[in-house]
Amino acid sequence: MRIKNVPFLDLSRQHRPIEKKLIRAFEKITQQNGYILGSDVDKFETEFSTSTGATYTIGTANGTDALLLALKAFNISHGDEVITVSHSFISTALAITYAGATPVFVDIEPKTYTINPHLIEQSITSKTKAILPVCLYGLPVDFNELKKLCKKHNLKLIVDACQAHGATYNNQPMGSFADAVCYSFYPGKNLGALGDAGAVTTNNKKIAAIIKTMRNIGRTGWYEHPILGYNSRLDTIQAAFLRLKLQHLNTWNKQRQLLAKRYSDKLRNLPFSLPLIPANMSHVFHLYCIRSAKRNQLKVYLERKGIAAHIHYPIPIHKQKAYRSYNKQHLPVTEKVAEEILSLPLFPGMTKKEQDKVVAEIHLFFTR
Ligand SMILES: *Cc1c(COP(=O)(O)O)cnc(C)c1O
Repeated sequence: MRIKNVPFLDLSRQHRPIEKKLIRAFEKITQQNGYILGSDVDKFETEFSTSTGATYTIGTANGTDALLLALKAFNISHGDEVITVSHSFISTALAITYAGATPVFVDIEPKTYTINPHLIEQSITSKTKAILPVCLYGLPVDFNELKKLCKKHNLKLIVDACQAHGATYNNQPMGSFADAVCYSFYPGKNLGALGDAGAVTTNNKKIAAIIKTMRNIGRTGWYEHPILGYNSRLDTIQAAFLRLKLQHLNTWNKQRQLLAKRYSDKLRNLPFSLPLIPANMSHVFHLYCIRSAKRNQLKVYLERKGIAAHIHYPIPIHKQKAYRSYNKQHLPVTEKVAEEILSLPLFPGMTKKEQDKVVAEIHLFFTR
């Protein structure tokens, strides 16, 4: 059969093989009458800690809140600065803004698309409290360099791993490399719920306890609220689904890595950059992103051929209207990359035939 259209992502292929189990999990919850927190949330938190190598996991309503609660737990607020990147999904900066602090954008490395540790020191002031790097597209950040900087300047390292579930650094899961690591389980992420969900992992007992209270409207007793909290709990039903899906995360990540390798093998001799994987890291390919000066024409060409390709992200955060006070800042690598990147279809369940069609059309585009 000839392939007509190649979707960017098709979650139904992930869910179909486990559909019966998902339905059974749903039925169990409707029979037990417990919809908020409870044993599925506790168990998911324990299981996710095991998988990330962290001591504690605290489920939250989404990834944006995971970042916000982590910042708040470290007392980051008005008057504080947090160093981060502009080449990310806007939530990275929003969480800093919601905490009352000021995001300070640093440029990225042109090959890995993650924060350039060598540009950080010049942005550190007496107000800087934390570095918030992003494991973009599924690639860990340069933890060695970042930890050195945090130690030297007494800063917290809070990581946005919303795209990097299961990625490793020096063959270790990322859980123990930072003060807190934040995850999103938005449906399209490598580990996704069937709705919104998120989590923070940490090895710090005190911080874990604060986040646990904070996500549950600041509650310690039934009607006792020692702190101003949020309603940002991980739903029981989503925790039950996530427990089932977590069992498949490694298999799905391996599929992503195989598809990525296949792309890189078959696209090697064309005039654009392929994803780079530093030797001490594993990339879990939430997105497979190429970089070409002909990006716009290529995207239109692929769309005409029925292939969905997206840009992550076309407008850097410091150029968004929502961050208009930053609009005049110049981050040369971030701005150039935003003009040239293109994410190709890649998802668990994607067939080789679909991938071959993408590869063939890209070859045609560059050789016609
Ligand atoms: C998805 C994502 C978030 C936000 O997560 P939500 O669950 O949608 O709130 C934050 N940062 C990055 C890099 C993301 O990809």
